[in-house]
Amino acid sequence: MLDKELSKMLSSQVNAEFYSAFSYLAMSASADKMGLKGAAHWLFVQYQEELTHATHMYEYILSRDGDVFFDKIDKPVFDGKTLAAVFDAVLCHERAVTAGINAIATQAMKCFDHATYQFVSWFVSEQVQEESKARDIIDKLKLIKNDTGMLLSLDAQLATRVFVDELAAAKKQ
Ligand code: MG
Repeated sequence: MLDKELSKMLSSQVNAEFYSAFSYLAMSASADKMGLKGAAHWLFVQYQEELTHATHMYEYILSRDGDVFFDKIDKPVFDGKTLAAVFDAVLCHERAVTAGINAIATQAMKCFDHATYQFVSWFVSEQVQEESKARDIIDKLKLIKNDTGMLLSLDAQLATRVFVDELAAAKKQ
């Protein structure tokens, strides 16, 4: 059976992933309102991914006979005036998620819970990608500054993102 502290931490992370999803949905709406449909799509895919993260963690807790603790999901708070502000908020948020994931990995090590450590290791790697993706877009937005043509070009690139439940794909391998 899953250690109670680990169950609580994983449950908090389920909540954090739903909060992430909720935040990205709100950010997607902001981008849509800016007329940036590609960025709105990218953020909507991010919303879909976060839902799968929450669901996989929820399933893992139950598969280990742990308890799932439910809490309220906070209202998303971010500056949605510009796409640069939105992606600054994305990076800031993902750094907080990384801290939560790392804390779970540390607790799993302390409990000698190899299964949980292995499960959460996927998320450790995922967070490296999440932060890298956000930084990449922030860097491009810094180069773009106020160039509308370049912004629309980036928007077209963001529109090509395809949703994949990567953890489900990894489990099949
Ligand atoms: Mg996530």
